[in-house]
Amino acid sequence: MIQYLERLKLTKKLAMNCPKCYSSKFVKNGHTHYGKQRFRCQHCGRQFVNNPSRQPISQFGKKIRAKLLRVNLVGQVNSFPMKK
Ligand SMILES: [Zn+2]
Repeated sequence: MIQYLERLKLTKKLAMNCPKCYSSKFVKNGHTHYGKQRFRCQHCGRQFVNNPSRQPISQFGKKIRAKLLRVNLVGQVNSFPMKK
């Protein structure tokens, strides 16, 4: 089991592919706001970041998300024209 996990870690580190088309042809494409290297797939043009952090969302992030959600809901309501 541990061996399996170790291998998984290893393959994750080594195998970096486009999350969309799994191509390994990509170019560096600047950095994210968090200073992470960003890549762009040369095959499908998808932008992605290696090893996206899986840290829990911070309080700040939660607030932003709540706001976005609210805006989204309001937008949906507004874009639903009342007929009759
Ligand atoms: Zn791709």
